[in-house]
Amino acid sequence: MRCKNCGNEVPENSLNCPNCYREISNRDIGTVSNKTVRHADRILALLLAMVPAAFGFLGMGQFYQGRHSRGLGFLVAGLPLYVCIAFFISMYGTLTVGATFLAFGLTVALGIVYFAIFLIQLADTLAGTLMPL
Ligand SMILES: [Zn+2]
Repeated sequence: MRCKNCGNEVPENSLNCPNCYREISNRDIGTVSNKTVRHADRILALLLAMVPAAFGFLGMGQFYQGRHSRGLGFLVAGLPLYVCIAFFISMYGTLTVGATFLAFGLTVALGIVYFAIFLIQLADTLAGTLMPL
């Protein structure tokens, strides 16, 4: 890294510039534009955790963060539930009243499980996002 005062190259973790003796704070490390990019990365990761979830795809935030095995776990857990929910909803008009109530009950039950997994993967994405810059 470089000294903000004189531009001299300063060894990592040094407290003072060896050239002008100015104090080097941790806040000097990294540029503003770099932090802006990282901030956009965090927002994009959270959007990817939310928007594709409406279409049955969980774990996209983890994929974006490079945590592929966790993302795959959420995807494999969520997608079959989503398909089942869509299937039960599609059956409503074709069933008897009793069977429609049963399909509706299954829709609600699976919907609650899907929403719970959605919240867990959202919290997990947020946790990955809150790592220090
Ligand atoms: Zn200096």
